[in-house]
This record gives sequence, C-alpha cells and structure tokens, in this order.
Amino acid sequence: MPQKIFIPKTKYRAMIIGGGASGLCAAVSYLAAGGKELLLIEALDELGKKILATGNGRCNLTNVHADGYADTIALFSSLGVPLRADAEGRAYPMSNRAASVRDAFVERLKTAVRAGLCEVLAGRRVSGIVREASAISVSFENGASLEAEKVLIATGGKAGPQYGSFGDGFAFARSLGQELSRIRPSLVQLVYSEGEKAKFTSLDGARAKANAKLTVSRETAATASGEILFRKDCLSGIMAFDLSCAWPMPGDEGEVAVVIDLAPALSEGELVHTLKNSGALGLRGVLDERIAAFIECEAKGDDRAAAAIVKAFEVPVSGTKGWREAQVTKGGVALPGIREDTGESVRIPGLYFAGEVLNRDFVCGGYNLDHAWNSGRRAGIAMAK
Ligand SMILES: Cc1cc2nc3c(=O)[nH]c(=O)nc-3n(C[C@H](O)[C@H](O)[C@H](O)COP(=O)(O)OP(=O)(O)OC[C@H]3O[C@@H](n4cnc5c(N)ncnc54)[C@H](O)[C@@H]3O)c2cc1C
Repeated sequence: MPQKIFIPKTKYRAMIIGGGASGLCAAVSYLAAGGKELLLIEALDELGKKILATGNGRCNLTNVHADGYADTIALFSSLGVPLRADAEGRAYPMSNRAASVRDAFVERLKTAVRAGLCEVLAGRRVSGIVREASAISVSFENGASLEAEKVLIATGGKAGPQYGSFGDGFAFARSLGQELSRIRPSLVQLVYSEGEKAKFTSLDGARAKANAKLTVSRETAATASGEILFRKDCLSGIMAFDLSCAWPMPGDEGEVAVVIDLAPALSEGELVHTLKNSGALGLRGVLDERIAAFIECEAKGDDRAAAAIVKAFEVPVSGTKGWREAQVTKGGVALPGIREDTGESVRIPGLYFAGEVLNRDFVCGGYNLDHAWNSGRRAGIAMAK
C-alpha cells in the first residue's frame, strides 16, 4: 500500500498504531463492525512485514489447541483464506504462503480506503502518545500531531526489530502510566556456556527428536519435546525455543542447564541391551552419527555410561540469543491494567492495547499469532462501538 504523504484531517474517530498482525486485524474488525474515520499508522513502508517471515514463510497462524482457534478460523474464512492444520495441530493458510494472509488484510483495507472509511499512513513512526482532556493525541518526530477519540497501541514488542518491533509500545505505555512487567527475548536459541562452546562445536548441524527440560539451579523450570538442533554456539530448534520461555528474567539468573533425553522411546536398560548387541555400530544405530560419536567419546567405551548420557545429556547454557533472533517478547503491559474482553486500559478510557505489547506470550505452534489476531479483533470491535 503506497505511503500517504498528505493528511487532510487532524482528528479521527479511531487510530491504530502499528500495521502488524494485531493492528491489521483490529482495523479490519473495526471496519466490519461499522466503524469509520479510522487512521492506521505503520512505521515501516510496508504493512505486515513480520507476518511474511512467520512459520518460515508459511505463517503458522493458529493451533487447534489455541484459545481463539474457532474465532481465528471464522476470521480467516471471512477474509477468503481457508486454513489447514497439520498432524501436530499447527494451522497454516491452505495456500501455504504467509503473503496470502498479509494480502487478505491489505485488500480489505484498500477497499475501505476507496470507500472513504479509512486512511493508511505507512512509513511514519509515532514518537509519542498523550492523553488530552477529550481525546488522545499522537505525535511524530517532526512535531506533527493527530488526535483521535480512541487509540489502539498495536506496536508489538521488541522481538525482531528488523520487522519494525522497536519496543515503542512499552515506552508509550509507561509514559501513559500503565504498569509494565520486565521483558526479555523469548522463543529464541539457548547459548552454550562460554567454557563449553568448544566441546559442542563438533555437533553443529546435528538434530534429534527428543524430550528435554530446562533446569534453573537444578530445579526443573520447563519441559518440552520435539526437534532439537545443535549449532556451533547454541541450541536451536522448536524444542530449544519452547524451553527459552522459562529462561529467568533479568536479575533472577541461577545456574541454567538443558538436560536432554535423546532417545525417549527407549529406557536406559533397553539402551544398554541395544548397545551390547550392536557391536561396532555402537550408538549410530540409535542417534545422529555426530551425537553418537560425541557420547561414545565421553563414555570411554562403557555401555552403561553411554546409555546414562543418552538419557540425560546435559548442556550447560549461559544465556539466550538477543532480540534480532527472538520470535516473541516475554513480559510487557501488565494485564491487571487492561480489560480482558476489549483490551481497553482500565485507567484511560479510549486507550486500547493488543498483541505482543501485552504481557502474554506462548510456546511455538501458532499461539502467538492467535493471540495477536484475537486481541486485535476484540479491540477493533470495541472501538467501533
Ligand atoms: C521470524 C518470526 C517468525 C514467527 N513465526 C510465528 C509463527 O509461525 N506463528 C506464531 O504464532 N507466531 C510467530 N511469530 C510471532 C508473531 O509474529 C508475533 O507474536 C506477532 O506478529 C505479534 O503481532 P503484533 O501485531 O503484536 O506485533 P507485530 O507483528 O510486531 O507488529 C507491530 C507493528 O507495529 C509497527 N510499529 C512499531 N512501532 C511503531 C511506531 N512507533 N509507530 C508506528 N508503527 C509502529 C511495526 O513496524 C509493526 O509492523 C514469529 C515471529 C518472528 C520474528
């Protein structure tokens, strides 16, 4: 959608800050509920840039186990985008293309712009939001400002700044007196402890289907199962991402380790038996070749020691990768200050929040987008009233 450089009005009925998943859904829902005089402002030149990167370009947009699954299905059906779920419950557009999801929203908005119901201002980053006596004022770095009766902050979190997530929503919320919880990157790789990096380098690229737990000061903080991917400096893959949800908040650090059961289908006794029968094949009949060689070297030819390592393979980790690599933000605008059914601030009538800026985050599988669509939808409908 082209950048709009001339703004005929300075006061709107509703303004949505952020044209990502939650903001686009809020805009379309606002218009569908009969709302008009809407301005959608997006910092980047392009709407929904992050949506294009989701699910490796396929957009895993909900999950059969997500709270909002039925509403998400209904929403996308109304947009002409039927969904298909895989065996693990992850739902994708039938086209298998994230672009079709983004374009469905953009086409709806184009129609509304032509009908005079809505304007879109792309390539303009909001720098401040202030509550006035009878409106909410939104300002830009060049000093210009616009007003609206209702404003939705849908600016996302800090994960993926390359997609426009600068964390501005947290600054706006703080300046407006909303309570915030601490934030950190989540759904992100776990970095090996400094002294251990060299040891794990030989595993770069090795994968395993495994069960694992994240321990903090030896206590289990999270469990996960799925694929783990060893990289030269970190643990990656869906399982590592899911474990990263339980990483301690800044200031709460303890000694963190990942303990992996690399052969969940076999008991330790069955593994010993397998190894005794395997002759020179060793663990290569059970595990990726590099992981097998690594463990055999650690076990020094002892089958029982090897089986014990396979069942509790310990990887010391000292941190997570940063915001550029993270898929979501943990923490954000505190939920007690927000009305759950609409996203409206309890303190400031007319001010709404949706999406990742809120203190809600989930494991991999489509839950985070499901939250973005549904919190955006609820806010959009409420703003139209
Ligand atoms: C690589 C990657 C893959 C992912 N894959 C999945 C997946 O498959 N399934 C899933 O459920 N989740 C996935 N996620 C997470 C999911 O994309 C986010 O949780 C979701 O997009 C959050 O929606 P949002 O609208 O809150 O924020 P965003 O989608 O981040 O949108 C916020 C928008 O606000 C704009 N903005 C920010 N500040 C300003 C400002 N000051 N003025 C104007 N505009 C502003 C930004 O440019 C951006 O367009 C993935 C994330 C990443 C990074």
